[in-house]
Amino acid sequence: MVLADTEDTWHALFKQLDVRYQEPTLVLFSGTVSSACGFAKAAMGPFYCPADRKVYIDLSFYDDLRSQHGAPGDFAQVYVIAHEVGHHVQNLLGISDRVQSARQRMSEAQGNQLSVRLELQADCLSGDWAIRADRARSILEVGDLEEALRAAAAIGDDRLQKQARGYVTPDSFTHGSSEQRVRWFRRGLEMGKLAACDTFSKERL
Ligand SMILES: [Zn+2]
Repeated sequence: MVLADTEDTWHALFKQLDVRYQEPTLVLFSGTVSSACGFAKAAMGPFYCPADRKVYIDLSFYDDLRSQHGAPGDFAQVYVIAHEVGHHVQNLLGISDRVQSARQRMSEAQGNQLSVRLELQADCLSGDWAIRADRARSILEVGDLEEALRAAAAIGDDRLQKQARGYVTPDSFTHGSSEQRVRWFRRGLEMGKLAACDTFSKERL
């Protein structure tokens, strides 16, 4: 089970950091769900709610990944969960809070840029997890990484905006472009160390 595996990996890593790792709860839903972050419709996709520390996975999103975004496969799904667990890690490390309060003092465009940094870091953390888990327990099978990379590319803001309305407005990006999402996932994977995922100190993402 993916979540169990992300737990083993993050427990070990937090121990090195001397921070206690508290596990998130995984909530699978289709249709609608209510969380401490409000009421969610399936259309919004998977999300993490810092207030209740739960990862909400919208099962219909997996169908969309396969049928509409050309990103099938079990590891595409694993990447989605690992990304949300990445947000949980950011929450435990206090990164999400800092971003949240900084955003209140910014314009919307600046806030969006900060959101992109947070999201790309979560992508990097999921790559970081994948390589650590593979080193420890050989979880990766042939084709897995391609599935994850395809999923990361499929849900870049530019691609989603183009699909939805035919044009792209980079100022409104909140998650990063397809190219950025693939690159940061890959970076986590290749570097395999937390410091490599510092998207906040980078001038260019
Ligand atoms: Zn995210």
